[in-house]
Amino acid sequence: MKLSLSSVLALLFLSTSVVIGAEVNIYSHRQPFLINPFLEKFTEETGIKTNVVYATKGLAQRLKAEGKNSPADVILTVDIGRLYIYDDLDLLASIESAVLDRNIPQNLKSPDNKWFALSKRSRIIVTSKERVKEGQITKIEELAKDEWKEKICSRPGSHIYNRALLASLILSLGEKAAEEWAKKFVGNLARRPQGNDRAQVKAIFEGQCDIALINNYYFGKLKYSDDPKKREWAESIRLIFPNQGVNDRGAHINISGGGVAKYSKNKKEAVALLEFLSKEESQKMYGDINFEYPVNPRVETTDELKSWGSFKSDNLPIISIAKKAYDAQKIIDRVGW
Ligand code: FE
Repeated sequence: MKLSLSSVLALLFLSTSVVIGAEVNIYSHRQPFLINPFLEKFTEETGIKTNVVYATKGLAQRLKAEGKNSPADVILTVDIGRLYIYDDLDLLASIESAVLDRNIPQNLKSPDNKWFALSKRSRIIVTSKERVKEGQITKIEELAKDEWKEKICSRPGSHIYNRALLASLILSLGEKAAEEWAKKFVGNLARRPQGNDRAQVKAIFEGQCDIALINNYYFGKLKYSDDPKKREWAESIRLIFPNQGVNDRGAHINISGGGVAKYSKNKKEAVALLEFLSKEESQKMYGDINFEYPVNPRVETTDELKSWGSFKSDNLPIISIAKKAYDAQKIIDRVGW
């Protein structure tokens, strides 16, 4: 079929047409600095206005309490543990989108199309450049070795990032071996678990310990911090993407993601927003703004992230990690992490 120039133009116009008065209401655990640049572009392209309710916690409870009267259309959050809570409380709508099917790999979305990963982050090992030699640690399992007694600093185990990591160990090594690992890991701590990921890097810089686990993007935040002190913290550590051996499973990853609210009154606009976030231009922005990896397999990792080291990621279906969260927490409680 041949199309005339005018019909091609008409088609182009249709596909980017501006919908007057359309809006989408977002409940977000993602911080404004991160999502605002995406939303501005989205509105520019589609004419759909966005309204954001931002909170660090309590949004799932709020959505549940609001029930059918909730104004929410889209939920944006980080970590499969949090996304899964929305799913578990039956707060998400199952949606159909060929665009999302194409842009987001199977292992990074819910089997019933209720939530979708939009970016990836890796939980990596960081070590003191001075006090741990290059190549001395290559696997998460090695953090259980006796030689690291009083050398490791850690955020509390019950934080979602560590709970998800332990869940991945349960899935890869079995529950017994995962608990054994956790017990020895805790036995190697230099101090009581405390602080966030950045605080662990600070502790390495200050010499309180030599090894920690952090999400990769915190390194970028420190490296490019306005505070020269924090740039020094970043300078003091080496990044290790663990479990990279030929037959090994790869580095543990988690996601940021989103879904459409079950009682959304603007479902079409809500789906359009998720589709927008999965497309190539947006996927690159996750790397540029927050040092996160694209989920869309057709999008290249940014040069900055590539310079930190290439790695293969553990491709466990991300939902299996959420399903093991409860068992992971029981181990965390038992070993006192
Ligand atoms: Fe974080």
